[in-house]
Order: sequence, then structure tokens, then C-alpha cells
Amino acid sequence: MYQYKGMEDTIAAIATPAGQGAIGIIRVSGKDAVGICEGLLRLGKAKTLKTSESYRTLHGWVIKEGNMLDEVLVTVMRGPKSYTGEDVVEISGHGGMVVLRAVLKAVLDEGARLASPGEFTKRAYLNGRMDLAQAEAVIDIIQAKTEDFLRQCHHQLKGELSGRLNEIRQELLKVYTMVEALINFPEDGIEPQGRLQISESLGSQEKEIARLLESSKSGRLLKEGVRIVLCGKPNVGKSSLLNALLKEQRAIVTPIAGTTRDVLEESAQMRGIPVALVDTAGILEPRDLIEEEAVKRSHLYIKSADVVLLVLDHSLPLEEQDTMLMEQLKTARVLVVVNKIDLPGQINLAAPAEIFGQGHITEVSAFERDSIQALETKIVEMIGMDKDLEAQGIMVSNMRHVKSLEEAQRNLQDACRLMDDKTSLEFVSEEIKAAVNQLDAITGRNIDEDLLDRIFAEFCIGK
Ligand code: GDP
Repeated sequence: MYQYKGMEDTIAAIATPAGQGAIGIIRVSGKDAVGICEGLLRLGKAKTLKTSESYRTLHGWVIKEGNMLDEVLVTVMRGPKSYTGEDVVEISGHGGMVVLRAVLKAVLDEGARLASPGEFTKRAYLNGRMDLAQAEAVIDIIQAKTEDFLRQCHHQLKGELSGRLNEIRQELLKVYTMVEALINFPEDGIEPQGRLQISESLGSQEKEIARLLESSKSGRLLKEGVRIVLCGKPNVGKSSLLNALLKEQRAIVTPIAGTTRDVLEESAQMRGIPVALVDTAGILEPRDLIEEEAVKRSHLYIKSADVVLLVLDHSLPLEEQDTMLMEQLKTARVLVVVNKIDLPGQINLAAPAEIFGQGHITEVSAFERDSIQALETKIVEMIGMDKDLEAQGIMVSNMRHVKSLEEAQRNLQDACRLMDDKTSLEFVSEEIKAAVNQLDAITGRNIDEDLLDRIFAEFCIGK
């Protein structure tokens, strides 16, 4: 077993969220989990936790110094076939914070230590129940904002990403052996053919990594979502479009220009992607301090936007305010949304077409459902998420994994270049080793304790 500080302690925590619920669960894990809980429980006739079958649920009471703390159901899951790989006891009681804290305190008084965030999952990893990429999928599952991303997390939890990385690793180790053989036995006369094989193999593994990195663009968007910022002068229909995209009435819509006095941000989903929709105030010349602040905030939002929707009014000719906005947004990723297409048109689109390109103009009516769906399609295309995500297979969504893959890719590209330059094979061997180390950092085969602590610190207590 991996030696890690604190692993010999038995840990305990409330595993359900704070607040009131039908039930609340206290989780205990470690070599004394059964003994500690046994001392606090009064179970039904002739029943003991020690003799209970693994995964069987027993009914009982938690008693501390003669006082009944709660009526509970208790399950023992014996290691190594448990979540953490150790003996685990779960006490399901009533879901109130006072009662759960009282039971937790009793467990701690009996000798358990309060678990730190993610410590149960960290133990699962350290005890070989899952690798690091799978452990990270656990936190992603808990934090997933959409079902599409959840599906991706399940692929990762099942070990599909780790499996692919291990395949690449195996191939790289084969090449490494070939390189070492050539270094150690150069007189075998197989050099030219051997070199060719090494180059080909390095090239194809580099492509495999490139494919995973390509998937990370969609993976990251699916995990973190996109920010869509609506800009436009007052009264062009920004709030109406926001509401239509949210499919709910959240922004205040009125025919009086300048109703939205501050930036409004709402979360929604667009074709399975989490989106933050931001309605900017649409003010160009602030009249007071509040409006000045709103304008400042609008600029910040525009800067951080994945897509800016510049809304224009189809029923009016372009005005100076529209032109000023177009000028300001020249460098942003803009989709020009010509709204109110249901009204007779007066707008001339020559200028926006010239600045943003004809392909980046779309005509809509905030009141027509089909029109809003077409707008969604256009936005999804613009962020490159118009593919069948399930068909894409394994997707990398974790920034730590992306960084390691990028490093590994660089190592392999360098190795290929060294092969082309006919440089000494020792250098090639070093690059391959470095690439393997990067892959091992993702699955946790090779990782330092500090980083491990940082990864698990992101988890909640009790997981
Ligand atoms: P904002 O100031 O840009 O947020 O604009 P609002 O969403 O408050 O809309 C201003 C006015 O335009 C309201 O009276 C809306 O009902 C109207 N409006 C918005 N979108 C459309 C549209 O597509 N067609 C028509 N005919 N009116 C619209």
C-alpha cells in the first residue's frame, strides 16, 4: 500500500450537503471504522457490525453516554471492496444538521479524525481503487452543469481516458526499448530500418495525443461553458432575445429605451453546453455614476466573452450608436443579430457585412421560436460545438490533463525532430521518457504529494 501521511487514521465526515434533508449520511473509513461505530450503536437482537455481512444494512440507534442521538440504518462495506478500499461504515440518519453533527461528534470522540476535503476519494486512489484521472472524474460528476458533460465524466470514471493513455504509454515504452537497443547494440546492422520504425511509431503516438488535445476544445467548453454577451443600443431587443434564449422571462422588457440599467447575467443551457448569457446595459453615454459603472462592467464582459451578439434593429436605419458599437467590437468574436425581422425593414447591412463578414450576420425575431432556434444553431457553430459529442468518444476536459498532454506532445515532436536530424539516440530516449512521465502524471502513476493534495482539496468534505 502507498505510504501517505495520515493514512493510518480512521476518518469520518458528514457526506450529505448541509441543510435539511430526508436523510443524512455519516461516512467513516479506516481500519477502526467498524470498531468505532460498534461502540456507539445498539443494533437489533444479537446483531453486531463486526459479524455483519458486507453491504448489508442494519437498523439501530446511536447511543452516547446513555443518550439516544438518532435512529439509523448502518451499512458496513469491508475493504478492499469498498469505495476507499478500506473498511467503510455509512450511518444514515435523519437529515438535520444538529442531529448529524451530534452523531459525527460521537464518532470523532470514539477516535476517528475529521476527514479533509476529498480524503475518501484520495484514499480510493492511494489504495488503487481508481487512478487519478478517474478520481478527478468524481469531482467533475459532482460539479457537472449539464447532462452531456455528465456523460463524458462517466466515460472518464469508467477509465476510458486512462485506458487510451495506457495504450499510448505501452507503445511509447516499446519505442523506448527499441531506442535503447539501438544505443546499446549499434553493431547489429539494423540501424536504418530500426530508425525508420522508431520515427513512424513516435509520429503515430504524437498524432494520438494531438487527437486527445483536439477533443479538449469541446471538453473544456462542455465543462466550463461559454459566455455569450449581448450588446446593442437601447431598445433593439437585447432583453427580449435574452428571455427567448433563456426560455423564461427574467430580464425586464419594456418599450422605454434604457430599461436595463446594469449588466444582467443568467445561466442556461444551449444544446447541452452550459452558457452564461449576459445582457449589457446598452448605454454608450452614461448619464450618472450608476450608468458609468454599468458601461465599465459591459466592457469587461465583452473582453471575456466567447461570443458577442451585436444586436441591431431591422426596423430602423443604422444610427451613430450602432456604428460606434461596431467600431468598438471590431476585434471581438461577433455575431451580428439583426432583430425585429417581423417588422418592415429599414436597415442597411453593408457596413456590418464589411466589418464582420456576411457569414456572421443572422436575422431573427425575438418573438419567433424557429428564429431563436436558428440563432442557437449559429452560436453553437461559431464556438465549434456543432458536432455529435457522443460520437467524438473520449474527451479531455481537465486543464491539468491538457497541460500534461501538451508537454507530452512537445516531447514527441522534439523526439521526431531529433530522429530526422540524426541526432544521438540518447536525446531521443530522454524525450520519450519525459513524454511517458507526462502521461503518468495524468493517471497518477507518477505525481508528487503536493500536487495530489491540491487536486483533492477541490473536493467537498465527505467525498
Ligand atoms: P433592449 O433595450 O435592447 O433590451 O430591448 P427590449 O428587449 O427591452 O425590447 C425593446 C422593445 O422592442 C420592446 O417593446 C420589445 O417588445 C420590442 N421587441 C423586441 N424584440 C422584438 C422583435 O423581434 N420584434 C418586434 N416586433 N418587437 C420586438
